[in-house]
Amino acid sequence: MFCSPAELTVKLKIFVAAWQCYQAKAQFEQFVEYAVALSSFTEFLSAKGLSGLAQMAREIEQETLKLFGDEASHPIDGGLLAALAAQIEALRERVVTAAEAQSLSTPEVNRRSGSEVGEAEVVDFESERRLWFVGNHMSGWADLLGQLAYFGLRVEICDWNNMPPTTVEPAMVLIDASDLAPTERINGITALRHRFSFSKLIGLNVEQGFLPMHEALAAGCDACVVRGTPEPQILGRVLEYDGAEDEEPYRVLVVEDSKTASAAIQNILRNNGIETRAIYDPQHVLVELERYQPDLILMDMHMPSCTGVEAARVIRQYPQFLSTPIVYLSGETDIARQIDALRLGGDHFLTKPVNVMILNAIVKTKIDRYRALRHSMACDSLTGLLNHTSSKQRLDSAITKAAATGIPVAVAMIDIDHFKKVNDSYGHPMGDQVIRSLAWLLKQRLRKYDIIGRYGGEEFIVGLVDATPEHAFDILDRIRIDFGLIRHPFNGSHFQTTFSSGVAHFPVIADREALVKAADEALYVAKRGGRNQVVQSSQ
Ligand code: GH3
Ligand code: MG
Ligand code: MG
Ligand code: MG
Repeated sequence: MFCSPAELTVKLKIFVAAWQCYQAKAQFEQFVEYAVALSSFTEFLSAKGLSGLAQMAREIEQETLKLFGDEASHPIDGGLLAALAAQIEALRERVVTAAEAQSLSTPEVNRRSGSEVGEAEVVDFESERRLWFVGNHMSGWADLLGQLAYFGLRVEICDWNNMPPTTVEPAMVLIDASDLAPTERINGITALRHRFSFSKLIGLNVEQGFLPMHEALAAGCDACVVRGTPEPQILGRVLEYDGAEDEEPYRVLVVEDSKTASAAIQNILRNNGIETRAIYDPQHVLVELERYQPDLILMDMHMPSCTGVEAARVIRQYPQFLSTPIVYLSGETDIARQIDALRLGGDHFLTKPVNVMILNAIVKTKIDRYRALRHSMACDSLTGLLNHTSSKQRLDSAITKAAATGIPVAVAMIDIDHFKKVNDSYGHPMGDQVIRSLAWLLKQRLRKYDIIGRYGGEEFIVGLVDATPEHAFDILDRIRIDFGLIRHPFNGSHFQTTFSSGVAHFPVIADREALVKAADEALYVAKRGGRNQVVQSSQ
């Protein structure tokens, strides 16, 4: 996951400013502001995958909640305040150090960070990703580490007594502490957690059961894999962590007739990193839903032209907005009316004046659930790639956009060679694993704005946005070569497989159906020509 040092520094400043403000005035009101800023900073750190820093921030959150109290309990007792201040100062120092180290080590064009489609970086989409393996017995892991290299992760082996003195943080640290004594084990993991702010720590070979798992997580691991987990499964976990996407910012549509109330709500949400848009008359809600595609609607109950409940009923008549969460905002204290409002198409009821912490928490959790639901509807469960229907929809909209802007799009069909033999020789579950490994490879090699879908059983569709025929060929051919190199472990040995691909190009062919058909025909030519090759459409 990517976070620029500049962005991190700005977020830190906002948080520290809120804390200083409390220190200056020592009133409850400023404490609430500081708590909101802290929770937003913690969210940011964990959304960016800065596990070590997020963990420190969460510890401060716990202390902060203990001191919350009410108006009468502020200013806080001097000793407690000094302890909190020390914790905050420690976090601030770690963030500053981390940001400095990061700006020395990362070139400004970083992996998947480009919102612009660059020219020179088309073939090499990602800068290198480093991974550390820390343990005394790497021989048992040689296969796994070798596999990771095929997915573009550069592995460095370190033993517990001899850690390299680098300032560059690895993306991930795999830890095998199973042969250390309990205290050494905890100290070892804790030391790595303190050293690395950005890296994801994954504990390997953790004993079964509650206590060993709890011990490893508490010491600072982000995730753990229990002893005896099959290697392909471990590989899967590691690649999933590595491939985790930056979430899009949350988007909320505020429907509220009072401009003052609306501005206040938007202000709270924006301070928490949530994007907002407002309308003041519910009659415009359908147009705005279509245009803004919010993740949630905050709906006032009482408006001059119609009530919030009436507006919600209208929204719910449209299938595409059937599951968009609606949270009502109102001064309503009458329980019966609130229940009625929920029955008629709302998801939650907040009473004004709203508590800022609760508003943020409700909005975020509702959006997370909604996004998970949307994801499960649009994505294939085996690979997490777009499913057949959503691949077609995404291609359609990419082509519409490309037609407006004049950029090229390459559409490729990819089909694994002799896949029936894989199933027959190694079994269906192993076949599934091969499908997953191709999905991961595609996800890792292509860019965020490319389209990657599982079109059928062992058939994939890829849309490369702003790739000329030559570029598209280079990219796909490199993936083809690397896929052929992956050694799939089976019963103490390995096997390898290949794929064939056909590619067609927009605007040479102008519509999606014809593009897919032409790519399919080119794929057929590749299969007939002996497989394990990429063929451009003759059109
Ligand atoms: P070719 O090189 O011509 O593509 O040969 P092939 O054996 O791959 O032939 P084909 O594409 O026709 O066969 C695909 C096989 O993939 C058929 C089906 O049993 C298997 N399959 C489809 N979906 C899945 C899946 O989700 N998991 C597994 N393990 N196998 C699948
Ligand atoms: Mg109103
Ligand atoms: Mg096949
Ligand atoms: Mg097939």
